[in-house]
Parts: sequence; structure tokens; C-alpha cells
Amino acid sequence: MAREKGDCLAQAEQMTPTPQAEHLDVIRILGKAGGPMGYMIRDFLHRSDVPFEWIELHSEEEARTKAGVSGLNDSRLPVCIFPDGTRLECPTIRQIIEKLGWFHDPSRSEYEVAIYGAGPAGLSAAVYAASEGLATIVVERSAVGGQAGSSSRIENYLGFPRGISGAELAERAREQACRFGAEILVGREGIRGEFLPGKGVGYLADGTKIVARSTICATGIEYRRLGLAGEEKFLGAGVYYGAGASEAALCHGNEDVFIAGGGNSAGQAAMHFSRVARTVNMVLRGPSLKDTISQYLLDRILSFNNVRVMTDSEVSGLEGDETLEAISITNRLTGDCRRFATRWLFVCIGGDPRTTWAAEVGILRDEAGYLMTGPDLLRNHQRPPGWSLDRDPYYLETNMPGVFAAGDVRHGSVKRCASAVGEGAMAVTFVHRYLTGG
Ligand SMILES: Cc1cc2nc3c(=O)[nH]c(=O)nc-3n(C[C@H](O)[C@H](O)[C@H](O)COP(=O)(O)OP(=O)(O)OC[C@H]3O[C@@H](n4cnc5c(N)ncnc54)[C@H](O)[C@@H]3O)c2cc1C
Repeated sequence: MAREKGDCLAQAEQMTPTPQAEHLDVIRILGKAGGPMGYMIRDFLHRSDVPFEWIELHSEEEARTKAGVSGLNDSRLPVCIFPDGTRLECPTIRQIIEKLGWFHDPSRSEYEVAIYGAGPAGLSAAVYAASEGLATIVVERSAVGGQAGSSSRIENYLGFPRGISGAELAERAREQACRFGAEILVGREGIRGEFLPGKGVGYLADGTKIVARSTICATGIEYRRLGLAGEEKFLGAGVYYGAGASEAALCHGNEDVFIAGGGNSAGQAAMHFSRVARTVNMVLRGPSLKDTISQYLLDRILSFNNVRVMTDSEVSGLEGDETLEAISITNRLTGDCRRFATRWLFVCIGGDPRTTWAAEVGILRDEAGYLMTGPDLLRNHQRPPGWSLDRDPYYLETNMPGVFAAGDVRHGSVKRCASAVGEGAMAVTFVHRYLTGG
């Protein structure tokens, strides 16, 4: 592939963007409908803004002739064919990252700032830190862009009056951070940290160690599950978390799509699918969308005559053999339960932070697991227990000096793209103060 996502140092030296036009061809993915691995790959490539073609195999014959496997149940599916002819059979995301040339180890033995998470907050922190000359590394366990990367169109982000797809916004931010010299490791997960004054060590799941003088945690939130039997089995095979930006092209005009949730991400999913599906059915626990969704989205949703809103309702059951075939929806007021045939359920019911690593090292969290920072750490004007410095924690600083939190992972954050970006930038200002001993 022409674009070198992981090789940020090389990009910074060239200082030239690598536009999509340089792709001579696209990655072709051949697989059967409803295969979870096919979905994971499509989702990763879509969020990474890498062009691909999904070729759905409908018969044993097609599996043999098009994909070169023995049949639709061959475990080598899905098959990915790269523009240079390389064939990967049922690849992991890590193998795809490696094939794209994005897999790199840290180039330095120590950084001035290590940022965990490359959603809007982490990418913004990377842009500001690297542009201000700090040796910066970003660790992202999946694709860059975070939740925003899964949005089909962000319409309320400053400067984009006609909206911008989350994947494009993320790709632009990634390129910007790299041009300033930030290193971005994708497909790598931070799992543990050790923090001493002036030195933090982050351990990644693959054993890589990252040493940095300061740390910004921008790991956002993880989608909440419905908690229904069979949910794991249907993940990527009919049940999807988030707005499913990569999937709309596969949905046919005779299909009924269901969306659990009544917030802005559910509203975006509804708008997106209303253009391709026969009906879009929003299933919400509350009595109305009015209190949970932005007015501009509500107006749009109401203007589509194929969008239905099922209030006071929740998804109560999932059915199907290998893939989702039907769901049950229960009315919370009457207890009435109805069954609907569908192969599309998008779950947009918010998320929770994954911050057990923080509790393990004594970083304070609220009851829901969000990281406490700045003024929220003060109780009756008292600094947090164990705080050793002769100043209060900075606004985005945790109770561990030099460890900051930005974006959705932070207690009291606003859960918007723009505020995550703002906090990422702001965190860098405090990093500077911390590093200069202020
Ligand atoms: C479908 C959808 C549509 C949305 N639309 C809008 C909109 O139109 N306007 C708006 O303002 N907001 C919107 N939002 C909300 C907005 O996207 C979030 O508020 C924003 O993305 C938060 O940014 P963040 O960087 O704090 O966290 P996230 O976006 O959650 O990013 C966190 C990143 O950290 C990574 N990560 C997590 N743990 C680790 C780890 N241990 N190691 C390494 N990496 C890790 C994750 O993979 C992720 O990439 C939308 C959200 C969704 C889900």
C-alpha cells in the first residue's frame, strides 16, 4: 500500500501527504455473508480509511472459483487479496496491520509523552505535543479514530459545515500528527502501567515496554453490551456495536434494520441506514427521543418516513443459527413481547471506561470507572491522599503526578468530539508545565 500509517517518522521527514489516488488497486475481501471475521476486517479497514472491496460469496461454487477454497464453510474464509497479489487467509487484524506496513516498534528508548488511545482526544494530544517539539508516542489498540471513527457523518464538529465522516476526520488527524513527528503504534494495547516521579512505564499486551516522562490516558469508553444470551455469538454476524458505518453498503432495500438506543450515535445510525434499508426501527427504553438526541438529528429522523421509533421498549432476545435471524422486543410498560425477523441489529447504548489498570496502580476513579482529575480530586480543599507535590493537581491531571486523562475516559467529560479534541490539546499544556517542574 502506498500510505505508511505506522511509519510516521519517515512521513514527517517527507512532509508530503500520501493521497488515496496513489492506491493502484484496493484490497479485495472474499467471504460469506454474516461471517464475524469479515466484519472485523471491513470495520478495521473502513475506520482506517483504507479502500477495499467486499466480495460476498453466495454458493459453494463461488467459494471455489472466486476464493479458491473448498466451500462456504472452509475455515480459510475470509480471504484477503492485496494489491501486490499477496493472499491472506482468515487473517487477524494484526496480520493485516503488518501487511499494510503499519506495524512498528517504538523508535526511542524514552519519550517525553506517551498517549494511550488514538480517538479524537489522543490524536489531538499527539498533534499538539509533537508540534510543540515533544518526543511523542501514541498507542492505539485498534484503528485510529476511536468512537468517532465509526461515525458515518459528524455534523457538529467546528469547521465542517457539511459534516465529515469519522474515518476521514481520523485519517486527517493521524496524518497531521505524523507530519509533526508523532509515532503512532496501531493494533497495540496498553495493559499495565508503573509510574514513578518523572518516569512512567507502559506495558503493551505483546510485551513491548514504553518509557515516558509523562502519560496521557485517552482511552475513551468501550461499547456497552445488551447482556443477552447469544450476543457474543452474533457479534459481527448480525449484532454490531456503534453506528455500523462500514455495513450500510451491504444492507439491501428489502431489509429491516433495528437500532437499540436513543442517543446521538443511534440517531446517526438511523439516518445512515434509512437511505438503504426498507425500514429502520429505533428501540429505546425511554418515552421519547426528545431528551436524548440533538435537535438537528431529531428533525432529520422525523423527516424520513421509513424510520420508526419504538419507545419504552428494549431488545429482549436474539435468535439464529450461525447468524442473527430474528430479535424479540419487549414493551417495558405492558410486558408485551414481539418477534421481528432481521439480520441487522446495531447496539448504540453508550459505553463504559476500561480502567482496571488505573485502579491497580492507585489512580483514583469514580464509581463507574472514569478517571478523576484536577479539582474533582480535592475533598474539602484537601489534596488527594499520597499527593506529594507542593501544588494542586492540574485540571486534567490524575492523582498520579504526570499522568493525565483527556476525553471520554475522564470523570465529568462532555462526550463530544470537540470536547475530546479540546481536552487532548489542553492536556499537552499541562504536560509542558509538569515537565518543566511547574
Ligand atoms: C457512532 C458514534 C457517533 C458519534 N457522533 C458524534 C458526533 O456527531 N458529534 C460529536 O461531537 N460526538 C460524537 N460521538 C461521540 C464522540 O465520538 C466521542 O465523544 C469521542 O470519540 C471521544 O473521544 P476520545 O478520544 O475521548 O475516546 P474514543 O473515541 O473512545 O477513543 C479512545 C481510543 O482509545 C483506544 N483504546 C482503548 N483502550 C486502549 C488501550 N488499553 N490501549 C490502547 N488504546 C486503547 C480505543 O481503541 C479508541 O480508539 C459519536 C460517538 C459514536 C459512538
